[in-house]
Amino acid sequence: MLAPPGRLRIDLDAVVGNWRKLNALAPSAGVVKADAYGLGMDRVAPALRRAGCRTFFVAGLDEGTALRALLPDAEIAVLSAPVEGFQPVYREYRLLPVLNHAGDLAAWPDEDAVLHIDTGMTRLGLDPSDAAALERRRFRLVMSHLACADEPDHKLNEAQRRLFAELAPRFDAPASLANSSGIFLGPGCRFDLARPGMALYGLNPTPGEANPMQPVIRLEARVLQVREVDRPLTVGYGATAEVRPGQRLATVAAGYADGYLRAASPGAAASLHGRRAPLIGRVSMDSIVVDVSGLPPGSVKPGDWAVLIGGDMDADTLADAAGTIGYEVLTSLGARYARSWTGGGEPGA
Ligand SMILES: *Cc1c(COP(=O)(O)O)cnc(C)c1O
Repeated sequence: MLAPPGRLRIDLDAVVGNWRKLNALAPSAGVVKADAYGLGMDRVAPALRRAGCRTFFVAGLDEGTALRALLPDAEIAVLSAPVEGFQPVYREYRLLPVLNHAGDLAAWPDEDAVLHIDTGMTRLGLDPSDAAALERRRFRLVMSHLACADEPDHKLNEAQRRLFAELAPRFDAPASLANSSGIFLGPGCRFDLARPGMALYGLNPTPGEANPMQPVIRLEARVLQVREVDRPLTVGYGATAEVRPGQRLATVAAGYADGYLRAASPGAAASLHGRRAPLIGRVSMDSIVVDVSGLPPGSVKPGDWAVLIGGDMDADTLADAAGTIGYEVLTSLGARYARSWTGGGEPGA
């Protein structure tokens, strides 16, 4: 790419710091599915491993084989992939299948596996009655997943915790229930191993309260054009925004094809030279327009960097503006940005 539209900087020291913080609360694995939530599994996972993280969760079998190449000695569990027919792949790459249903259990009789019990998510996992009827078997881990961990007052949390606390001891295995938010529900949900993902990447596991995690990413894009409005005009597709003489606008090189969600306008803002610049008009495929009237005339020039995620406009705030969740903002970040990683315990990494 000659002139990538934007740059995405990922602070691996912050990822590691976040993991250490969580690991101090509850012994923690690292969830690195979906390319470590879009931030680069090949950078994130080795940094976590160097920090002492031993167990990793991925979603698919392809992610598992890719991770094995990066981490020869880590424990890698595959959350949502078929087992039947793929046993040779699990064995060759020493991946732990997560056994979600009776068919998985039949397909994988040995103990190098994770048993997943569904305690209320109704997505994957063995029904509680089937789990209770299962003969005592050894597993590497027995797990369940919370449906509402980000809503501390939701009654399903306690119901799931109780059911899991009743079922997990029937198996000869350490137990794992909490995702990132689950860790913050309190010691009762932490069991032997937590499975944080989002909090490692700086998203807020305690929505509505101050974010206890360090920010990890900074996304910036170039200003392409600046204009001073001299007559009433409309901005962008659908002419949805009207501007008046005296307003100043800057067009920035990032759009929905770059993962900058179309629903973020109106509501989101960029930041230019430390000042807030609200989005105006619709998000285009490759660009957005921001209102820079609040900045001194002449202070914004083509080539300047606008901060799209970073500082006050973190991924959670941008997600709020777009009516979605920070997870979707991160995993939507496209392939066009120039990505760079700093820190992570390896000089020059
Ligand atoms: C994605 C996932 C996690 C991690 O969840 P976060 O909310 O990102 O911490 C943990 N467990 C399972 C089963 C998952 O699918």
